[in-house]
Order: sequence, then C-alpha cells, then structure tokens
Amino acid sequence: MQNYKPIRMCISCRNRNYQKDMLRLKILDDNRVIVYDNCGRSFYICDECVKDKKKVKGLTKRFKQDEERFLKFLKEQLKNE
Ligand SMILES: [Zn+2]
Repeated sequence: MQNYKPIRMCISCRNRNYQKDMLRLKILDDNRVIVYDNCGRSFYICDECVKDKKKVKGLTKRFKQDEERFLKFLKEQLKNE
C-alpha cells in the first residue's frame, strides 16, 4: 500500500506541510482571492499563517487585497474546518 502524502509550501512562511493541513486558494482575474475551485493556478497557506495577523497583513499587501474582505474570507475558511 502506498502511503504518499503530498507536501506543499506555504506562500507566506515558506514552511512545508501536508497538503491536507493547508488552505488551497487561487486568485481571480479581478484580483479576488477565493478557495481553489479545481481550475487555474493555486497556492497554499498554512493554518499558522491564516491565524497570524502579521502574516495576513503581509499577504493582504502582497496580493493587493481589500483588507476587510480578505480577513473575513480567511476567518470563514477557518470556521469551515
Ligand atoms: Zn505559513
């Protein structure tokens, strides 16, 4: 039996983690970040970074997100777990 667990790198802290423990997101053409919907390019954020206000702020700037919307969006993702 194969016991392969994919590892991915967090876009924020660059730590590597199991894919299942990370949030998979993508950026739309209009620059909104959404949960990955199985098409296009995706990236990963680890739980630690989602919960880290400083990291989230960095990502907000990096991806030029609307801060209020982005924070709310990430909070919702944590709740869904
Ligand atoms: Zn991280």
